[in-house]
Amino acid sequence: MHIRDVFQQHRTTFSFEFFPPKTSEAADALFAAVQELEALKPTFVSITYGAGGSTRNLTHDLVLRVKARGSLNPCPHLTCVGHSEPDIREILERYAAAGISNIIALGGDLPQSMAGHDRSKDSFRFASDLVRYIQEFNAEKIHPDPRGFGLGVAGYPEGHPATPNRVKEMDHLKAKVDAGADYICTQLFFDNHDFYDFRDRCSLAGIKVPVIAGIMPITSLAGMMRMADMAQGTRFPAPLVRAINRAGGDAEGTRRVGIHWATEQCRDLLDNDVRGIHFYTLNRSTATREIYLNLGVKDSLALASHAGGRRRDD
Ligand SMILES: Cc1cc2nc3c(=O)[nH]c(=O)nc-3n(C[C@H](O)[C@H](O)[C@H](O)COP(=O)(O)OP(=O)(O)OC[C@H]3O[C@@H](n4cnc5c(N)ncnc54)[C@H](O)[C@@H]3O)c2cc1C
Repeated sequence: MHIRDVFQQHRTTFSFEFFPPKTSEAADALFAAVQELEALKPTFVSITYGAGGSTRNLTHDLVLRVKARGSLNPCPHLTCVGHSEPDIREILERYAAAGISNIIALGGDLPQSMAGHDRSKDSFRFASDLVRYIQEFNAEKIHPDPRGFGLGVAGYPEGHPATPNRVKEMDHLKAKVDAGADYICTQLFFDNHDFYDFRDRCSLAGIKVPVIAGIMPITSLAGMMRMADMAQGTRFPAPLVRAINRAGGDAEGTRRVGIHWATEQCRDLLDNDVRGIHFYTLNRSTATREIYLNLGVKDSLALASHAGGRRRDD
């Protein structure tokens, strides 16, 4: 099902992100988590892609394995850096043949293993080029759904490091949406004001598609350091840092602070009529399940039926 169809039925979506495991032990742990998260009835689950193609087959296999469960709507990520048009086409043809409904189209960052790669050899420079190409592919009607793939794109409430000019950045985001994206999913953030301001700036720029908020609970100090590295530019607000400091390095205390903070972010987003919450799960289920419990619901359907707050203008 296209995510834009889901938005016709439910104002708010709830989704989980997984990455392809590299060992059989990691795969077992992931599928144990998938089984537990399935009970939360997510709208869709997204599966990351290693930029440059490092997880090309792993992503594909995981997407199909998740789809085979029957209860989940997998949405593969696809990055265009380091890929030629035939590479991308082959991936799209395989997903079309498997009846995958949605793709999140991304630029991707050149991995260290491809340092020195000449980007002029890539068929697509930016995510907007990939979106445009997938829409051309959709027009060929190869996909069993005559509309082809539904498309998501990435957004950055705190800005993307490659474009310090935030006015130009919004133009680039608008170009990506105008090329045919159905929704925007954001990078993780810890201060909801950044998300609300981003959502307002999207609206002022004439971007009308739903904006899904990316939430990643802090579960350890090491995890927090990895997040700071991975999502470059992410700001950890002083009250969050103070709360983590109060835990004094205690692992369980730090985890509780992180889950509490993420729960409060979700509660506030729901009160402010967010169109979707996307949980970066890191292939684990505990943190996400605890947030649902803290919000007082047993699954996403219960969350969706009580979602909707003060804003109704998008
Ligand atoms: C929800 C989400 C999911 C992600 N999933 C993955 C994943 O699975 N695998 C992975 O490797 N990475 C993933 N990433 C990270 C992402 O690939 C990087 O952040 C990457 O640097 C940018 O990707 P993009 O799709 O935003 O690229 P783009 O939209 O192409 O933007 C990249 C930069 O180029 C600028 N830009 C865009 N168009 C133009 C133009 N015409 N002229 C000049 N500058 C322009 C933008 O402003 C931005 O600074 C994800 C990020 C998010 C938020």
